[in-house]
Amino acid sequence: MAELATMGICEIRAGLAAGEFSALELAEATAKRIEEIDYEQGGVNAFLEFTPEVAREAAAKVDARLAKGDSLTDIGPLAGIPMAYKDNMNLLGTRTTCGSRMLENYESMYTATCVQRTLDAGAVPFGKLNMDEFAFGSSTETSAFGPTRNPWDLERVPGGSSGGSAAAVAAGLLPATLGSDTGGSIRQPASFCGVVGVKPTYGVVSRYGIVAFGSSLDQVGPFARSVEDAAYVMNAIAGHDPLDCTSQPVSTDFTANLAEGAFGMRIGVVPAFMEAEGLSNEVREKMAEVANALKSAGASLVEVDLPHAQAAMSAYYVLGPCEAFSNLSRFDSVRYGYRDPGHADLGGQYEASRAEGFGPEARRRIMLGSYLLSAGVYDKYYYPAQQVRTLITEDYTRAYEKCDVILMPSSPRTAFKFGEISDPTSMYLSDMFTISLNIAGNGGMSMPVGLGKDTNLPIGAQLQAPQFKDENMFRAAAALELIYGKAPIAPRYAESAGE
Ligand code: GLN
Repeated sequence: MAELATMGICEIRAGLAAGEFSALELAEATAKRIEEIDYEQGGVNAFLEFTPEVAREAAAKVDARLAKGDSLTDIGPLAGIPMAYKDNMNLLGTRTTCGSRMLENYESMYTATCVQRTLDAGAVPFGKLNMDEFAFGSSTETSAFGPTRNPWDLERVPGGSSGGSAAAVAAGLLPATLGSDTGGSIRQPASFCGVVGVKPTYGVVSRYGIVAFGSSLDQVGPFARSVEDAAYVMNAIAGHDPLDCTSQPVSTDFTANLAEGAFGMRIGVVPAFMEAEGLSNEVREKMAEVANALKSAGASLVEVDLPHAQAAMSAYYVLGPCEAFSNLSRFDSVRYGYRDPGHADLGGQYEASRAEGFGPEARRRIMLGSYLLSAGVYDKYYYPAQQVRTLITEDYTRAYEKCDVILMPSSPRTAFKFGEISDPTSMYLSDMFTISLNIAGNGGMSMPVGLGKDTNLPIGAQLQAPQFKDENMFRAAAALELIYGKAPIAPRYAESAGE
């Protein structure tokens, strides 16, 4: 038996049902492990706020219901499951800082729907996880509260912007976490940390209570160490929410079709992507291996083309900053956010507070968005970017006439070192394979498929699915998991986990 604190959701459910341990014992063991691994000098630093007391209370409630005779099914798909949340998600009783000085002291006024649904399903909340400031970034280095370290190599980044959410799962601190993905922020860190990371179709999970970055792109999803565990979380969080007008009535049971695997599925591969500049050899070779693995699992491979994908990056760095500029205007130091005290005039207060409260990357995006939306410029950039958006969406529609899932890398390379990528444009290229999907609004997930032969670090295979057919990618992911195994806990922390 793996050590209590590092069990997956399915193991925990079995253990709780058999009375092998209580939810409170699990919560105690989890709290101890988080203290040891996350807070030790030079530790992972996944947590921005740690709430063991709240967790104990929630766990005791699950135990009380079990003692009263309620079954795990009565309590919910996440009964007793330790979880934590990216710090752009409101959770009453915690701060929601978005990794920014701007919101350093901001207390959540309510709980985001996605978080509330995990709690309603019985989850035990351990707090809030580190992220790039306002989710701008691919390395978690832009957090105002220090970066999260990659559990596979503490000198490397965990990816971003949901770096804390990915690293916490990879270090075996929690079986599942939530993150958000606007341009790759679930899939890229999942790939760097070697865990499962799911970005559902736009509209599947409510964003009510998430601090908005790009409202037409943002979507919430889980990190976990197995496909079935991720499916359990999806079952809890997916579905219509009247408080988010983009949310859809989804009633998929994400655990239902996993056993079917990839048998009979048509897997689309995009030959042009394998020639992409910046794609490392080890990732290229791994993708060929994964395609063969899916074939051996009974799928057929078909070549598809996404001809406008090369314009996705340019379109995203117009649409994203424009939406971010508009969303972040509310942090004005009056209603929300950091206030520089030394100003009698309002203009001076705005200027100084925003200059000091936001870090360099947030300021860059705000300035970019403000320029792009200004009169005379708008027509030249924003409008064409929306047209590119339509072309990319149509590319996908055509491709999905020929296949059920598309396979491509999650990231062109494995995790890089802190400070290794310092110019913003190179950092933006981290998302070359993830962004088109957000632009089209489709679902995608990153599956750990072993280590790169050159770097010995985790590689993620990205499985993409048509809109509201997220179950397709879960089936293909389940097939890959049979071949590559469940995501391991990073070696440095596996020993203490009894693996
Ligand atoms: N890395 C991308 C960016 O910086 C994506 C971020 C995200 O998905 N939140 O915009």
